[in-house]
Amino acid sequence: MTARGRSRYLMGLAGAALAFVAPAPAKGGSRFAIEPPDIVISRAYRYAAMESEHCLSLLALRDVPFEVAPPTKGVDTPVRLTGPVRGVHFVPVEAQGPPEKDFRTIADCRLALALDDLALVLSPHHVQRAEYFSMYRRKGVGFVKPGKRHPGGRAIDLVNLVLADGTTYSVRRDFHGTRGVGTCGDRAGKPRRDTEGARVWWSVICELDRLRSFNLILSPNHDWAHRDHLHMEVRSGIRWQLIQ
Ligand SMILES: [Zn+2]
Repeated sequence: MTARGRSRYLMGLAGAALAFVAPAPAKGGSRFAIEPPDIVISRAYRYAAMESEHCLSLLALRDVPFEVAPPTKGVDTPVRLTGPVRGVHFVPVEAQGPPEKDFRTIADCRLALALDDLALVLSPHHVQRAEYFSMYRRKGVGFVKPGKRHPGGRAIDLVNLVLADGTTYSVRRDFHGTRGVGTCGDRAGKPRRDTEGARVWWSVICELDRLRSFNLILSPNHDWAHRDHLHMEVRSGIRWQLIQ
């Protein structure tokens, strides 16, 4: 075991021991942000802390179809998905030419690992297509710190889920959220309407909350800006998480 491996192993043990301590409120700017004592063993934290080569080899090991994308300003390790992940196609809502020309389809490798987890959650719901506004965005490049948000290739804005039978669930139409309520756990509210679409959306978020693959998931319950999409992010340099 290398020195780094050993320290990771020890960090893991420390995290396991701390897992029984209740999470403390965090400074994420929201009462739903928490700072779990065992954050270092969460998937999002580990993905975010990965070195480039480690991330790429893990992505390959998981059989995620991808290619390394050209150097992209603001993105540490740019990749593009080249096929369905666990049967789920990730596609932009309005195609702007071929994917290889569309910069919105670029993800940092750490986000791509979390997308593999997202596909794992979506597959049993019979989702065949996950449509998004964008992963990478140029707006904000140079202003946003590396390793965070869309200019870092660390976030996806998920909009629609299309099932095998053609049924489409959109965040705007089917989420039925209420601003200010929790989405998962003890403080969770309920969808305003009990529909199959609402059940799928809320369930997807809470399954990901349990997997801890993203340290930020913002839904219509969070604010008006997210009334039509879920913002899902793997951010570096934070020890808190906000799933709402
Ligand atoms: Zn976003």
